[in-house]
Amino acid sequence: MTRRELLQSAGFALAAAHLEGAPAPATDSTYDWIRSTRILIAEAYNPPFYPSLDYNAEKAVRIARELNADSMRYPAASYFAYFPTKSGYPVHPELKGDPMRETLDLCRKAGLKTVAYVPLNHPFMDVTANDPRYAGWSKRFANGKPMTTEHYGYAEYFEGCLNSPVRDMIKALVREVLAYPFDVMYFDGPYEGMQNAKNYCHCQYCEAAYRAKFGKPVPNQEEKVSREDEIRYTNWMANDVAIAFLREIRETIRQTRDVPVLFNDTSLLSRREWRSRAVPVVDGFMFEAAETPEEKLFNMQLGQSTGKVTWTYVGTHTQYNREHLKDDKVRGWFSYPVESEELLLDGATAQAASVGLVYWGLSRFFYQPQGPLAYDSGKYVKEIFDFQQKHDALLRAVSSRPQAGILVGGQTIDWYTGKHFVGKAYLNAARGAYQMLKANAFEPEPFLDWQMSAEKLARYQMIYAANAVCLSDAQCGMLADYVRDGGKLLATHLTSVADEYGRVRKNFGLAEVFGAEFTGAEPVEIPDLYLKLASGEEIPQDPQVFRFRATGGQVLAETIDRGRRANLGAAIVKRSYGKGEVIYIGSSLEAVYEETRMKRLRSFLGGLVSPWLTPGRSYEIEYRSGVMPHFMASENVLLLHLLADTGDKNKHLRTREEFLPVMEIKSRVRVPGGRSVRAVSLLRSGERLPKTVRDGWLDVTVPRVFIHEAVRVDLV
Ligand SMILES: [Zn+2]
Repeated sequence: MTRRELLQSAGFALAAAHLEGAPAPATDSTYDWIRSTRILIAEAYNPPFYPSLDYNAEKAVRIARELNADSMRYPAASYFAYFPTKSGYPVHPELKGDPMRETLDLCRKAGLKTVAYVPLNHPFMDVTANDPRYAGWSKRFANGKPMTTEHYGYAEYFEGCLNSPVRDMIKALVREVLAYPFDVMYFDGPYEGMQNAKNYCHCQYCEAAYRAKFGKPVPNQEEKVSREDEIRYTNWMANDVAIAFLREIRETIRQTRDVPVLFNDTSLLSRREWRSRAVPVVDGFMFEAAETPEEKLFNMQLGQSTGKVTWTYVGTHTQYNREHLKDDKVRGWFSYPVESEELLLDGATAQAASVGLVYWGLSRFFYQPQGPLAYDSGKYVKEIFDFQQKHDALLRAVSSRPQAGILVGGQTIDWYTGKHFVGKAYLNAARGAYQMLKANAFEPEPFLDWQMSAEKLARYQMIYAANAVCLSDAQCGMLADYVRDGGKLLATHLTSVADEYGRVRKNFGLAEVFGAEFTGAEPVEIPDLYLKLASGEEIPQDPQVFRFRATGGQVLAETIDRGRRANLGAAIVKRSYGKGEVIYIGSSLEAVYEETRMKRLRSFLGGLVSPWLTPGRSYEIEYRSGVMPHFMASENVLLLHLLADTGDKNKHLRTREEFLPVMEIKSRVRVPGGRSVRAVSLLRSGERLPKTVRDGWLDVTVPRVFIHEAVRVDLV
């Protein structure tokens, strides 16, 4: 045993680090701080950093303070570096002195924490730069042509390859940035291309590395690539190259100056993004934006289900829809304070989920003649940050208490290629399940299939497998064990039809659990279908039906083709399995709910799971269109958030939205056994409410919700 091991085994790890002269690790408080942040981003892919460098550290820090941010994110680099680097990264031609150092000094004086933004192979090599190194760093097509991409509408860039010497240059850049006293290192990437991210790289380094490992060249996508070759290349580029690179950087930081490391994993639910499964390597990640607040809350909970710190942008609504522009890479305005109450809803949604806030960004106020609070959006940012600061202890203490786990098919997104599969609408199933459960006041939590484990499943009273097509034999086994041990499973449509790489099975992987066998591996699409229930009632059925034969259990509904007076057979089957119960629905009814919000589907699906979930529910709420509940709790506080997305948005995506208040929302909160209520109040208005408890339930009528309110119940 070495001296170091001896000290560590005796619990003296810190002393050991000290003896060896290692710099002190980040304090626990930094690791704690990242869970609830108020970060102002200085974005450098646009003014005031690029193309012209107008940045001024003093002005930036003043804006951060006026907005009540508690920290700033400084861009060490974007298309250029914004500090005097010797790494070889191109430096902005207008750079004078060291604005990074100056920013860090001013932030420290102002009591602000600092986050370094470091791009990991985010495209930066301007094709017009005439830099001779770029040819050796570029990602290449099979014919040798370098791959290029656009980004923000300013220029075209070569895409870099992580197997080329650009990798060492980026590592040098990271080491230089780490030598500055940043509190947190945040990485954008690792990227392996942008517009050509899904094109295989044929550069000399990739060809050599691939041949060394597999004894054959990189598969040529211009020809037919077998599924086995696709799996081999994809896993190699994702795990051996991109994620291994992030892991290497994480370990370097741990050994040099240990600070929290987060990265951009907005691609978590995108198809075959190389870094999407890098979450376990880091302390946390950014899940940037979403098109709707409902989608955002879903994403934030999915992020938190990983057990990692989750950050999100507030302010992404400022993206212009650019509908009449020919080139949609030209994005409109980066440096103007776009006014909108959507910012308030964006902030409230993030706060309901208790994630870290990152406002994007500084550029909105940098060029304005007055301070940020002279503009609506500046006032809104401050309002969001003030709320976060005021309730900091509470927001950090509470967490989600899900009854149902929604199995989200990351593997299906990556690999399934069925003829009737519409990738861009695939998440309508998981999101529909989420909305349906929320609308029935059953608290859900989405989680990722590739993170499934027996422990994770055991968190939930039921699992909703919403068209989880691609599941491995081992995952099917975990779900079967979960039910056998008393769990409840609702599975829909093509769940378990294929293995984790999309290779279609001869029958459901969960055939025995469902008590069903499919009659063909593709669904059928027929208009005007209905579910005929045992009562005789006919309710709308998904027009895309997956046909099966029931081999056990009770058929709850059959599919009726009204136009042809035909009965297509079993549509829903329910059975006991071991100590648990299973319902299988041979269609994606939850996707139809997401697409229609039909009242009868809401009550029907709610009724199916009600016997499983009603006894253990934490709250009830009358359904009000646009109002979404979100329940959180700590040991002594119950917190029922109400998000009111009741705006005037029309069919044009990202047009501005204005909101209306919702009045008199009736809800009930269950008081846990053995506890009593000390106080009931509203988090925003501050109003005190009566605390009368009847039969273990507290009745609460919330008089008014404009965008957000939360019922706070303090327990004794
Ligand atoms: Zn390459």
